[in-house]
Amino acid sequence: VARGDEGRSPRALTAELAAIVGTDHVLTDPDLVAGYVVDWTGRFRGHTPAVVRPKDAPEVAAVLAWCRQEGVALVPQGGNTGLVGGGVPLAGEVVLSLRRLDAVAVDQIAGQATAHAGVTIGALQRAASDGGWSYPVDLGSRDSATVGGTVATNAGGLRVLRYGPTRAQLLGVEAVLGTGATISHLGGLQKDNTGYDLAGLLCGSEGTLGIVTAARVRLVPPPRDVAVALLAFDGAADSVAGALALRRTLPALSAAELMLGDGMTLVCEVTGVAPPFAGSGRPLRSAAYVLVEAEADEDAAGALGDAVAQLPGVRDVAVATDPRRATELWRYREAHTQAINSLGAPHKLDVTLPAAQLAPFVDEVPAVVARAAPDATTWLFGHIADGNVHVNITGVAPGDLRVDDAVFRFVAELGGSISAEHGIGTAKRPWLHLNRSQGELDTFRRLKAALDPDGVLNPGVLLPPLR
Ligand SMILES: Cc1cc2nc3c(=O)[nH]c(=O)nc-3n(C[C@H](O)[C@H](O)[C@H](O)COP(=O)(O)OP(=O)(O)OC[C@H]3O[C@@H](n4cnc5c(N)ncnc54)[C@H](O)[C@@H]3O)c2cc1C
Repeated sequence: VARGDEGRSPRALTAELAAIVGTDHVLTDPDLVAGYVVDWTGRFRGHTPAVVRPKDAPEVAAVLAWCRQEGVALVPQGGNTGLVGGGVPLAGEVVLSLRRLDAVAVDQIAGQATAHAGVTIGALQRAASDGGWSYPVDLGSRDSATVGGTVATNAGGLRVLRYGPTRAQLLGVEAVLGTGATISHLGGLQKDNTGYDLAGLLCGSEGTLGIVTAARVRLVPPPRDVAVALLAFDGAADSVAGALALRRTLPALSAAELMLGDGMTLVCEVTGVAPPFAGSGRPLRSAAYVLVEAEADEDAAGALGDAVAQLPGVRDVAVATDPRRATELWRYREAHTQAINSLGAPHKLDVTLPAAQLAPFVDEVPAVVARAAPDATTWLFGHIADGNVHVNITGVAPGDLRVDDAVFRFVAELGGSISAEHGIGTAKRPWLHLNRSQGELDTFRRLKAALDPDGVLNPGVLLPPLR
């Protein structure tokens, strides 16, 4: 395992890295470094001798070559919005920030884009839109999360049920592997069965095999008509059943997001936004909500309305007929992350369940958490039509893993995955064996040894320590 910063004079390290990227792009001032060493939630806090900011793939390759030669571990970092402690230097690694690699080009004829690693998802979406296309991966962190980070984590987001996760958009990558080799496959051919899918392998590898410096992604035609509605149900089971039924009855369905009454109440308190359905007389806290979006060539609102009218258990409906109102409805969902974070660093356990186990899971998981940590509070929301529930737990110290253990074991018992879309990072490593067999873990280790032979790339991420 490669070293972190210990054992090397900080001044020598800084000078040698500055010779590669320039003095201005090796940050050591604690004020400048602060934002790179703690994650978005505040749960994962590390330290680093330096943040290195290369400008292009050759500089990335030179920094990596230096790290291999010196046996210094590094952590690649994009927007630092990751939620599993994978992008911060918990063991004193050098941080390799990819944010200066920020060029993007849209190929209007092909309907594709080549985006460098540091381009934010928001910037890629705007570039696609300017070119008459749309980039369909969308997530609440869009203005900070980067192309490199979303490839490294195979980010999902709000429209996976219609367009798939990041891997489904990926036609090729440019990357510097831990071997030192730079590989580039950015031609954008739709059909290209010429051997191993290295882009697919790097996608979701969380910076453990190579550093993604650019990606070729497919774009989709922008939706012509979009409709959004917020549906209220009496309880979680009805709302889950409703969301799953819409996948069949509403072919135009592009997003279905679960929220529960206590989360909705918290969002309204923290943001000052008015509660939905205030005049209904029904208590906000006991309800469950599904935010539904439909994309169609025409009359998306009509298709959505027809499907909702057939849906059992719907108590109230708020339909957005203009983009401003649609944004207001989406705010209830998007503000959940920030509202929960305002209570202190949460444990964020992003899991998927088989469809048949979703409603029982949502009903029972708060009791599972309460048995493990009686003072904890459980908040549930998520991309429900994908079977994806974000289990957020507050009132538990960052290092207290009892709730993580209880929830992950419960998920595995029900046939689910301990990571739907955020990855394994450092946070979930001890439980990877719940989802992956010994044979799979051995294969992971062989891949790691082949592509990162010196073990310098994110040594603390993804793979569990050998027992
Ligand atoms: C408000 C909010 C909403 C979110 N919503 C979603 C959501 O709906 N769906 C979802 O999937 N995620 C979501 N996330 C999580 C996060 O945004 C994603 O995991 C995203 O892909 C991280 O991108 P990033 O650029 O911030 O990567 P970072 O956080 O910087 O890094 C994430 C991981 O990728 C590695 N990495 C980063 N860049 C590279 C690179 N160029 N090459 C190799 N490895 C690299 C890092 O080492 C780390 O292991 C959300 C986060 C927040 C804060």
